[in-house]
Amino acid sequence: MNSFLITTNNPYTYDIFLSDLSKLLIKYPNLQKETIGYSVLGKPIYALKLGNSGKKILITAAHHAKEWITSALVMCIINTLLENGNFSHTFYFIPMVNPDGVNLCIKGLAQDLPVYVRKRLIMINGSEDFVGKWQANIRGIDLNHNYDASFSKGKALQLKEGIFAPAPTKYSGEYPESEPETKAIVSFTKKIAPQMVIAYHSQGEEIFYKYQGKCAPDAEKIAQKLANASGYQLILADGLTDCTGYKDWVIEKFNIPAFTIEVGKGENPLPITQLEKIYNDNIKLINAL
Ligand SMILES: [Zn+2]
Repeated sequence: MNSFLITTNNPYTYDIFLSDLSKLLIKYPNLQKETIGYSVLGKPIYALKLGNSGKKILITAAHHAKEWITSALVMCIINTLLENGNFSHTFYFIPMVNPDGVNLCIKGLAQDLPVYVRKRLIMINGSEDFVGKWQANIRGIDLNHNYDASFSKGKALQLKEGIFAPAPTKYSGEYPESEPETKAIVSFTKKIAPQMVIAYHSQGEEIFYKYQGKCAPDAEKIAQKLANASGYQLILADGLTDCTGYKDWVIEKFNIPAFTIEVGKGENPLPITQLEKIYNDNIKLINAL
């Protein structure tokens, strides 16, 4: 695969992301990097900007820890856009929203963690086995259920599923934007005021484009174009997947086209061997924007 500077043969940890990012920054001085906030454990969350024309499009990846393949995907897309050099849009990327969660899902407890964090994690998880199992941030809050979009409805649905406390997945936190990662995404989104948003997740080869039955006037047409380009299916959300997510908040707050794109097929975490097909499908999608 035409992966250039990006690591495509290993689970995509935060450390690998940082090392790939510094290679890109050295080779492409026109790539702009901004620290938009810090994770619970103090890891910088980066946004990258490419281009200066057309629509402002914001693309995020790895809200969910098990979905780290989306970070590798976004880094490959950035590398391709930089290599091609002419940008039809102003792209903003947040390649890894949840760096603490990603590292926990890939490395488990075999990393430097404060003792109280370690103890609390084991309590939340009910075991010391985190590898391939963790979706939330390091406090057991599911970042894609931490946004201010039908938050109380989301809470009620979680209670029905027996989720009422920090957990490996699906717990939305006590109140919207309680987590520093979510706060960082919210304030950056408000600051740049994008005209379109894409949130990458895995898996299913599906594109969600509505929230509570609503979307911006041109969103359905664009979603169809993206589906045609990638071979992915359009899909409508329901239940817990139809509230408290980033796309939901963006549609509610800004009334702009906002898409959750579920890449790949199989059980999360998808193996890194799927990256090539995922990249091939999604570079077509990006070129169709
Ligand atoms: Zn997800």
